[in-house]
Amino acid sequence: MNIEIFEKAFEKGKEAIPLGNVATYIPELGKAGKNSLGLSIYTDDGQRINIGDTQTRFTMQSISKIVSLAAALEVCGFDNVFEKVGMEPSGEAFNSLVELDLNSNRPFNPMINSGALTVASLLLPKMSFLDLADYTRLICLDEEITFNEAVYKSEMANVSRNRAIAYLLESKGIIENGVEESLSLYTKMCSLNVTAESLANFGMVLALEGKNPVSGEQLMNPKVAQIVKTIMLTCGMYDGSGEFAVRVGIPTKSGVGGGLLSVVDKKMGIGIYGPSLDEKGNCIAGRPLLEYLSKELNLHIL
Ligand code: GLN
Repeated sequence: MNIEIFEKAFEKGKEAIPLGNVATYIPELGKAGKNSLGLSIYTDDGQRINIGDTQTRFTMQSISKIVSLAAALEVCGFDNVFEKVGMEPSGEAFNSLVELDLNSNRPFNPMINSGALTVASLLLPKMSFLDLADYTRLICLDEEITFNEAVYKSEMANVSRNRAIAYLLESKGIIENGVEESLSLYTKMCSLNVTAESLANFGMVLALEGKNPVSGEQLMNPKVAQIVKTIMLTCGMYDGSGEFAVRVGIPTKSGVGGGLLSVVDKKMGIGIYGPSLDEKGNCIAGRPLLEYLSKELNLHIL
């Protein structure tokens, strides 16, 4: 593998960092180093490339939405999940409740907060937070994933908007019980500490249709991996998903902790850590970095 292409992509990402800012609406996230950047690659032939801050721990935030979606599809089944939450891009910010309130009786998709809170409510009777944290360790091939209590408490002290969404969901009968518990489970999942390398691992598992790249063990139903990748492509970057799909064409999920997880199907898992975010809450280094890689290595899905 030509390491220079990855180094050049990393530099392209670095150049964009000054144009963004770290998230501060969860005060604890405001402590992140704005200039940090890590790029981790894991390929189907077992090679790894790590450049920059690939071992720094940071919270998954919305990347946990794909973990929870996968778990819910495994334990509740396709019909039960998609009866409660749609599969259409929303075109609205990740924490919007306008469309849900005015025009819909179902969250648009499981990648926005209303959808992820609904998924959390479906999981409540089936899996505990500890079960879900174990599942996250399994599919990220990372035993060291821990719960970041400081970030959790910081978000729970500033959670009015997500609480409003959760109660709106309850008022519409979408969350039937356990509204506070759903909010807490969702926020705990957002507070799991990963690294860029753990995200690259998870990306590789998804690329291999749910298989552990080392042992070949099936960690996730292949159909579940296919659904997760499709939702990542159409909804993974919130209201930036369309442009991202055109320019980059690699299914990717972002989180406001600065993480990005990308899947080059059958070939590669990519994990990025860069807490400087664009106005939509996506790692600002990610797009130029991945756009460059996509062009140079011909990784666009189409
Ligand atoms: N915990 C964050 C929130 O609910 C996750 C958002 C994100 O990563 N986009 O606001």
